[in-house]
Amino acid sequence: MQYTHDTDQAKEYATAAFGRVKKEGLSPTPDIFELWYVYYSGQSPEASRAIDVLIANKQKITDERCKELFQRFLSEDRDEESVRRAGDQINTTLKGMTGVVRDVKSATSDYSDKLGGISGKIEGVTDAGELKGILHTVMSDTENMIAQNHRLEEQLDKSSLVMVELQRDLESVRKEALTDGLTGLANRKSFDAEIRRIAGAAQQSSAIFSVLMIDIDHFKSFNDNFGHQIGDQVLRLVARTLTDGVKGRDVTARYGGEEFVIILPDTPLHAGVIVGEALRKSVATKDVINRSSGEKLSRITMSVGVAEYYKGEDVQELIERADAALYTAKHNGRNQVAAAPTPDKKQQDKKEA
Ligand code: GH3
Ligand code: MG
Ligand code: MG
Repeated sequence: MQYTHDTDQAKEYATAAFGRVKKEGLSPTPDIFELWYVYYSGQSPEASRAIDVLIANKQKITDERCKELFQRFLSEDRDEESVRRAGDQINTTLKGMTGVVRDVKSATSDYSDKLGGISGKIEGVTDAGELKGILHTVMSDTENMIAQNHRLEEQLDKSSLVMVELQRDLESVRKEALTDGLTGLANRKSFDAEIRRIAGAAQQSSAIFSVLMIDIDHFKSFNDNFGHQIGDQVLRLVARTLTDGVKGRDVTARYGGEEFVIILPDTPLHAGVIVGEALRKSVATKDVINRSSGEKLSRITMSVGVAEYYKGEDVQELIERADAALYTAKHNGRNQVAAAPTPDKKQQDKKEA
C-alpha cells in the first residue's frame, strides 16, 4: 500500500487507528496498526467493507481476525510494492550502466581515431625527438583509456552486486508470498498452484495422487479455554507433526484457519488412508505444553478426509470430495479418517467424455 497523506491527515488516521487498537484490546503490532490505519483512511474499500461486516454482525474483533484481514487484503500489496521497488532499482541501475557503456564507447572511438592519426604522422617522421613526442602522446592516451576501462569495470562490478542483491530480495519476496506466516507451511495460494500442476501432470501421464483434508477438532473451544496464543502454538505443532510425518515431495499446506491439506503424489486411496491414520495418531499422542507455565494442556485431535484423484476430474471436485469425507469423519465422532468413494468407472468416463 502506498501512502501519500500529508502530516495532518496521517496524524488523524494514526490517532484513530491507535485509539481503536487500544479500545478493542488488540496487540499494537505493525500489521494490526496498519490495518486500522487503512480502515480509517478508507484506502482499501475491500478491507473496510470486510471490517464493517464483522462489526455489523457483532463479531468480536481479535488479533487473529485482524491478522487474517491483513493477510487477505494488505500483505499482497506489500509484496507487489517490494517487487515494484526492485523493478525501479533495476531500471535505475540499467540506465546507469547504459550511460557508462556509451561513454566508454565514445572514448574508445576517440582513442582509435587518435591512434589512426598518429600512425599517419609516424610515416613521415625522421626526427628522433619528434618520434619521442608522438610516443609520449600515445602513451598518455593509452593510460587514459586504461583508466577509463578501469572505471567501467568498477561500475559494472558495483552494478552486478546490486543485481545479485535484488535477485535475492525478489526471491525472498516470492517465497514469502507462497508461505503461511504462522506455520511456515505452503499457503493456500501455493497449494492452489501445486495441485493444479500435479493434476495437470497426472492428466497427461495417468499418474495417481491423493489429497488429505485435515481439520483440528473442537479447536474453537481449545482457543476459548486456553487463548489464541496457545491456539497458534498448537497450529505450529500440528504443522510440524504433519511435515515430519510425510515424505519430502508430498505437499503440506495450511488451507485456512485450522485446516490443513496434503497432496500425496503416486498414492492410491488406501495408502492415503494409512498416511492419514498415522498422522492422526501422531497428533493425538502429542502433549501440548503451555510454554509459559509448563502446564500440560488437553490433547489435540484432528479429523481427516481422503480422496484419490481420477483422470479428468477437476481440482475443485477433488477437493470437494475430500471435504465431504472430512465432514463424514467429523459426523462419525471426530478423531478419525474417512475415505471418499471414488466415482465408479462409468461415471468417470461420462465426465471425461
Ligand atoms: P470442529 O471439530 O467441528 O472442526 O470444531 P472447531 O471448533 O474446530 O471448528 P470451527 O470452525 O467452529 O472453529 C475453528 C476455530 O479455529 C475458530 C478460530 O477461533 C480458530 N482459528 C482459526 N484460525 C486460527 C489462527 O490462526 N489462530 C488461532 N489461535 N485460532 C484460529
Ligand atoms: Mg474448520
Ligand atoms: Mg475444526
